[in-house]
Amino acid sequence: MPVRKIVKIDEEKCNGCGLCVIPCAEGAIEIVDGKAKVIREELCDGAGFCLGVCPTGALTIEEREAPAFSEEAVAEITKDQTTSYIIQKCFSCGAGEDRGAIFPCRLKGESLWVCAKCLPKLIHG
Ligand code: SF4
Repeated sequence: MPVRKIVKIDEEKCNGCGLCVIPCAEGAIEIVDGKAKVIREELCDGAGFCLGVCPTGALTIEEREAPAFSEEAVAEITKDQTTSYIIQKCFSCGAGEDRGAIFPCRLKGESLWVCAKCLPKLIHG
């Protein structure tokens, strides 16, 4: 098995709110018995877009041996998913993706979304 980045879920911290399920475009996370779980490791690409929405800090990225990420497995699991989703918001000004494009970024160990207006402040300070 390759060594690669993959999401780690701290069950002690997870409150089962489900906010991390939607940002995962690959469908890797489900709520099982009130806790978030990576249902199949080959579905998690380790991008970490779920980290920024977790209110409890239960999600981190670790590097370890895991089955390789599989586009085929993702296509299989996401083919019947509905299109409902929770609108993501800019961490800085709160503008939602319904008002304009937002972009994923990493800042001080967190995965966050930032809008086009606030992005230059991050780049230039
Ligand atoms: S967002 Fe965090 S607290 Fe909520 S279900 Fe996911 S891991 Fe648990």
